Amino acid sequence: MGSKIVVNNYGSFDVKMAYGQGSTCYDVDGKKYIDFLAGIAVNSLGHNFKPLVDAISAQAARQIHVCNYFLSDVGVEFAEKLLKATGFSSVYFGNSGAEGNEAAFKLARKYGYLNGGEKRRTIYTLESSFHGRTLATLTATGQEKFHPACFAPYAEHFKTIKPNDWKAIKTAFDDTTAALMIECVQGEGGVNLIDADWAKAAAEAARKAGAIVMADEVQTGFGRTGTILASDELGFEPDVVSFAKGVAGGVPMGGILIRGKAEGVFKAGDHQSTFAGNSLACAAGLVVLNELQKPGFLESVKQKGEKIRNEIKSWKNPNVGDVRGKGLMIGADIIEEKSAVELEKKLLTNGLLTSTAGKNTLRLVPPLNISQSEIDEGLEILKKTLETF
Ligand SMILES: *Cc1c(COP(=O)(O)O)cnc(C)c1O
Repeated sequence: MGSKIVVNNYGSFDVKMAYGQGSTCYDVDGKKYIDFLAGIAVNSLGHNFKPLVDAISAQAARQIHVCNYFLSDVGVEFAEKLLKATGFSSVYFGNSGAEGNEAAFKLARKYGYLNGGEKRRTIYTLESSFHGRTLATLTATGQEKFHPACFAPYAEHFKTIKPNDWKAIKTAFDDTTAALMIECVQGEGGVNLIDADWAKAAAEAARKAGAIVMADEVQTGFGRTGTILASDELGFEPDVVSFAKGVAGGVPMGGILIRGKAEGVFKAGDHQSTFAGNSLACAAGLVVLNELQKPGFLESVKQKGEKIRNEIKSWKNPNVGDVRGKGLMIGADIIEEKSAVELEKKLLTNGLLTSTAGKNTLRLVPPLNISQSEIDEGLEILKKTLETF
């Protein structure tokens, strides 16, 4: 079913999705699925959200794209509101998470070059992190399974340190360090939380060594964890934040936010992208930002996440181990004897969209505006499926 003509790099399921409404999806046969996946934390406002559909439609009629020789009215409006909401001083737009991180790495390399010459070029990321699928972002990804021999050679001067390891930060950074990048909650790595005190201490140590500090918020950013940026809560005040996934509610967009020592590093010509910050994506981003800033919205993300985690824990199902997360980024470990991927498949059959992460973790990242009744319906499917798993 389509897998012969679309490069099958995803091990896709044999389901053809057709449309959605809110946090409910339907396949071509009309079968219903509760969406606890949101296109992997992308459809932050669910499906067919009217203000988003209206804004995209209206923008498509005005202008979909204008090349970056010019600014666009909607692009400038989005950039202004984005910077005001996040406290950064400038933004670079790209089209995906990997592109955001590529921009961050280039900025870090140039920062290092300007502040220490050719010696200062090492970029640190965390063990078990995920940063993307391009060659540099794969290299930066702190998981060996993402470094098969077939794609070698990988980029040079990337190193990792172990998250929450206090000893490591004492010795890791020196005058060869250009940047430290922290993935605020490790999504792909298994929904692993980063300790706020450790993140602050690691950032301080990196800064002391003359490096800049960056956050990969491709998955955690834009309300996913219950604050506009997850780094706001961790408190380590990154100079650069990469974002993508949920920022434009499903329209491809990514990029980096810049401030502090990272400001002014990029000069005209240093980094560009043809599609980047196109009018359509910016119009979509404006709608997402507007929703996030409505009174109570982010608080509701926190409450919904808390409720889902507590509910799963309360079942005391023997197949489930640790349940953790932040906001609507939730991980439930599945015991060693059982497979999270098998559970994911059964849930799909039973009408619930989920994903897996890390060694054996079920990952739930529903739309941020998921309704209470859809949460209840999804949890009921999860509970029943786990009981017979
Ligand atoms: C998904 C993800 C990426 C890669 O984003 P793409 O849009 O797939 O390139 C990078 N970092 C993190 C933390 C992610 O979750």
